[in-house]
Amino acid sequence: MNTHQLFRRSRTRLALWYAGVMAVILSLSGFSLYRALVQSHWVAMEREIESIAGTLHDSLEPMLPAGEDPTAVLRRILPELCLAGQPCNVNPTLIQRHTTGISDRTLYAIRLFNHQGKLLAFSPNLPPQRFQMLQAESWQTVQSVNGLRYRQFTTILHSAGANHPAGTTSAHPSWGYLQIGRMLEPLDAETRRIQWTFAVGLPLALGLVVASSWWLSGLAMQPIYQSYQQQQQFTANAAHELRSPLASLLATVEATLRVPQSSPQEIQTMLHTVERQGRRLSHLISDLLLLTSLEQNSSPKPFGYCCLNDLISDLTEEFLELAAITNLHLTHQIPDRELYVLGNESQLYRLVSNLIANAIHYTPDGGDVLVSLTARDRTAIITVKDTGIGIAPAAQNRIFERFYRVDSDRSRKTGGTGLGLAIVQAIAQKHQAQVKVESQVDQGSVFIVEMAMTSLGA
Ligand code: ADP
Repeated sequence: MNTHQLFRRSRTRLALWYAGVMAVILSLSGFSLYRALVQSHWVAMEREIESIAGTLHDSLEPMLPAGEDPTAVLRRILPELCLAGQPCNVNPTLIQRHTTGISDRTLYAIRLFNHQGKLLAFSPNLPPQRFQMLQAESWQTVQSVNGLRYRQFTTILHSAGANHPAGTTSAHPSWGYLQIGRMLEPLDAETRRIQWTFAVGLPLALGLVVASSWWLSGLAMQPIYQSYQQQQQFTANAAHELRSPLASLLATVEATLRVPQSSPQEIQTMLHTVERQGRRLSHLISDLLLLTSLEQNSSPKPFGYCCLNDLISDLTEEFLELAAITNLHLTHQIPDRELYVLGNESQLYRLVSNLIANAIHYTPDGGDVLVSLTARDRTAIITVKDTGIGIAPAAQNRIFERFYRVDSDRSRKTGGTGLGLAIVQAIAQKHQAQVKVESQVDQGSVFIVEMAMTSLGA
C-alpha cells in the first residue's frame, strides 16, 4: 500500500469514527430532547385539566342538591349538559364560562356521576362513551367510540346539602364525581410534528456531521502527513549526506588496494583522506543522534543552574585558536553581574559553540566576531555577531531546517553537516529559548538567543 493510500484510508477511518460517535451523541441527545418535550407538553396538559376541574368543582359544589334525583337541579345549574337517558339539548354556558380563555371548549368534555358511579350528565361534545360507568383511577386515558382519545381527571364532589351535623355519620360521604376530559388529538398532533422535525432534522444533521467529519479528519491528518513527509525528506537527505563521504572513503580504499606498490607517502595521503572522511561521517552520525535525542526529549541529565558568563568566556577562549588561523578578530563582552539560567550545560555549550563556529566559518579573513551577553528584565540575551558573508532574506527562514545550506559547496568545505542550526533550534526549544537572526548579505549576521534567567542570577 503506498503512502497516499495509507493516509487516505486512515482519514476515512478517522472520519467514520468521528461520524459514528457524533451520530450516537446526536441521536441520544435528540431522543432525550424529544422525550423531554413530549413529557413537558403532557405535564402542562394535565395541569390545565386539573386547574379546570378545580374551578368547576369549586363552582359546582355549593349548588349541588342533596336529593337522590338531581335531574331537575342539574338541568337548572348545568343546562349545557346532556342528562343520562334524556334527549340532549345543546346550550353551552357553564363549561364555556370556565374553559373560555384557557382553551377551546370543544377540546374539553365533562361528565357527572352519582356516588354509586352511575352517569348523570355529560357534555354534548362528548361522543357516547365506552365507559358509562365510573373508573376507579383519578387519571385515565380513554378512547371514545369514534376513536378520539381523551385524558381525563376525576374528582369527588360533596354537596352543600350533604353536610351532616357533627357526630352523625353519612352513608354517602360524597355527592358524586366530576370528570373532566381533554381531547388528546392536538397533543398527538404536536407530538407528531416534533417527531417529523426530528425525523427530518436528524438525518440532515447526520449528513452535516459526516461532511464535517471528513473535513475535520483531513485537518487532523494534515500535520501528521506533513511530519511524515518531513521525516521521509530527512531520511533521504541523511542517506545522501552519508553516501558522499562513504563513497569517497571506499574509492580511496579501493584505489590503495588496486595499486599494491604505492609509495609510503601515497599511502599516507590516502590514509589521511580516509581519516578525514571517517571523521566527517562520525561527525554527521553524532549530530544526527544528538538531534534525535533532543527531539525525543531523552536527555538523562536534569536541568541545573548554568552561569552564562562562564559559558561565553570558555567558548570564546576555545575558539580563539580557530579564529587566529582564519585571521579573525574574536572578542566577547559579558556583564560584571553573573547571569544564570536553568538548563543542560553541555547542550547550552553546544548551542553557543555552533553559533560561534558558524560565525567564524562564514566570515572572510580579517573580519570580526563578537559574542556578547546582556540582561533585559528577567531575560538573558546572547548575541553572536559577525561581519561575514551574511544571509539573503529568503534563506533566513530556512537556515534552521535540517541539511539546509545556503551555499552547499562552501558549507561542505567548512566541514558543516547542515545540521548545526537545526541543533541550535532544538536545544533552544528544549530550554524554551528564542533564536532570531538578523542579517544582510555581505554585511554580516547577528544570531540572538533569548532565555529566561533564574532567580539565582536575576
Ligand atoms: P552548516 O553545517 O552548513 O554550517 P548550519 O545549519 O550550521 O549548517 O547552517 C545552515 C546554513 O546557514 C549554512 O550552510 C550557511 O549557509 C548559513 N549560515 C549559518 N550561519 C551563518 C553565518 N553566521 N553567516 C552566514 N551564513 C550562515
